[in-house]
Amino acid sequence: MAAAGSTGKPVKKAAAGKPVKKAAAGKAAAGKAAPAKAAPKKTPAKKAPAGTTSAKKTAAKKTSAKQAGPAPKKASGKPESHLAKVRRARRINRELAEVYYYAHPELDFENPFQLLVATVLSAQTTDLRVNQTTPAVFAAYPTPEDMAAADPEKLEELLRPTGFFRAKAKSVLGLSAAIRDRFDGEVPGNIKDLVSLPGVGRKTAFVVLGNAFGVPGLTVDTHFGRLVRRWKLTEQTDADKVEAEIAEIIPKSEWTMFSHRTIFHGRRICHSRKPACGACPIAELCPSYGEGELDPEKAKKLLKYEMGGLPGQRLKPPPDYPGRPAPPLGANGSNSNGAAGAAR
Ligand code: SF4
Repeated sequence: MAAAGSTGKPVKKAAAGKPVKKAAAGKAAAGKAAPAKAAPKKTPAKKAPAGTTSAKKTAAKKTSAKQAGPAPKKASGKPESHLAKVRRARRINRELAEVYYYAHPELDFENPFQLLVATVLSAQTTDLRVNQTTPAVFAAYPTPEDMAAADPEKLEELLRPTGFFRAKAKSVLGLSAAIRDRFDGEVPGNIKDLVSLPGVGRKTAFVVLGNAFGVPGLTVDTHFGRLVRRWKLTEQTDADKVEAEIAEIIPKSEWTMFSHRTIFHGRRICHSRKPACGACPIAELCPSYGEGELDPEKAKKLLKYEMGGLPGQRLKPPPDYPGRPAPPLGANGSNSNGAAGAAR
């Protein structure tokens, strides 16, 4: 597998005039130069209580420092060893943990059943649209028993804003009936039983296990797959194979949070069509640096959600979320980034 390797070149000066750290990544297979970091790591300040203004300001400062423009670095051209790749992957995880210290599932839920239903509804739409739809759904049908007994047409109407509402209503009715009949009305907390429910695949099951049951799991969605391939951590395109390869290099205890951080990064900075490389805090670790916008000012304009000063996807975000909550359904007729259904 072609990948990045350390150059070992002398330390360069960053744009801000501060010495940069020795980079862990070198040139990508495509011949693009990987950048070095703009500023040395600071000694972590005493953490303010989550959700306070002080905590949010500290986090904003940290993120802004990490977004300083990267300096390009020459590559050695040597293939990256497996050990170097593992170290780089774990460093990416650590860096993202600092930037997205508030990473979380972007679906609103209060119990495993709500998370399971919300995850099924999130297919082919935004988490925002699901979050705007589920309050009415769960008010009408709070338990699997209630949902299984729902009038299909009434349920379809409630699910209409999420798209594919007839198929989704069928899945939700089916999985609710199975939970009622086979699991005494409780969502099962293991992969084997979860994937036996109608409409529940491994991705949905891992979301539920990781976030409602505390069982580590990797969520290989479109963002996750794109990013780990851009980082040259895998070349696989099949979700199960991606999951297997990443499971080999990221510690099991980190699987759930690594998934959230990677998906956060994909939604906010490393977009599918135009990644904001010029504003990317892990640019020095990325062999695909240069695939997107390099100009720091232009790159900054591509940032989404709290990174772009916009509302997030959750109507009820966790207390440490530094951005604004999403508006309820119909409040603005579009998603939080101004384009209905476009941003995931
Ligand atoms: S935005 Fe994406 S492609 Fe660009 S440097 Fe960052 S991680 Fe790499």
